[in-house]
Amino acid sequence: MIQPLEHDHNGQHPSTDGLLDHISASTVKLYLTCPLKFWYKKVLKLSEPVSPSLHLGKAVHAALQHFHRARWRGECHERTTVIEAFTQAFNAPEEPLVYPDIDTRQTNHDKGIKMVEAYLDSEHGQMTELPLGVEVQLEEDLPVLPSPVLGYIDLVRVGNVPVDYKTCASTPNVQLEAFQHEVQLTLYQLLIESATGEKVEGRELVFIVKTKVPKIIVHRLAPASEREKQRVLDIACAAVDGIYHERFHPQPGMHCAWCSYRSQCAKWTGGAR
Ligand code: SF4
Repeated sequence: MIQPLEHDHNGQHPSTDGLLDHISASTVKLYLTCPLKFWYKKVLKLSEPVSPSLHLGKAVHAALQHFHRARWRGECHERTTVIEAFTQAFNAPEEPLVYPDIDTRQTNHDKGIKMVEAYLDSEHGQMTELPLGVEVQLEEDLPVLPSPVLGYIDLVRVGNVPVDYKTCASTPNVQLEAFQHEVQLTLYQLLIESATGEKVEGRELVFIVKTKVPKIIVHRLAPASEREKQRVLDIACAAVDGIYHERFHPQPGMHCAWCSYRSQCAKWTGGAR
């Protein structure tokens, strides 16, 4: 159990208890990108408005989830039902949104429908094999790490291949993306291997690109080697160590451009936050 910090926040003592009940790829990434942002988001739980692109991405994700889950269950997965799932998710966001005006919102909605349609028409969307699982939640104890690892995997394909969907604004550099998502994909591989006792035959990133005519790009990676797995476990350990020892300091960089906590961060002096 982590002890609460001494610092006051609105007259209360923010507690880090429970932060390491489990860890996930997003916890590791958030902490290592900026420990102070992690503090604002995970300890103080300061709300963060959802940008239009994140809002769109979540709704597209919900539509693809609906599509593959319906296939997996042998239920109706016709285009109209998938578009309906998209619109439903788009109209019911969980967090406050940032839209400059109603037209931008409508444009985003229309763009989202085109992206979902592009996916359904793509080779990936037309796959005949049934997934082994959709939105698979796994929680496993992995070697070295003191906390269990929790993961939600978008899709698990034949060969135990974890698939993660990414929406992006322009054609991605897939090698760079694979490097940036190394922790996520390798933790998924480790989770599947631990849960099934079977081999994972690959890892897959599927990009739904928000260009005028949306594109679908599939990037299949080889399974992580033993050395690559160890590297990711060591990266995760570094994050757990920092959280456990409550090292919550700013880490300025390019990522500050889209951080919602810049004004709070500017007041940070190394003492009370
Ligand atoms: S502004 Fe930058 S350094 Fe400050 S909390 Fe945000 S990401 Fe971290």
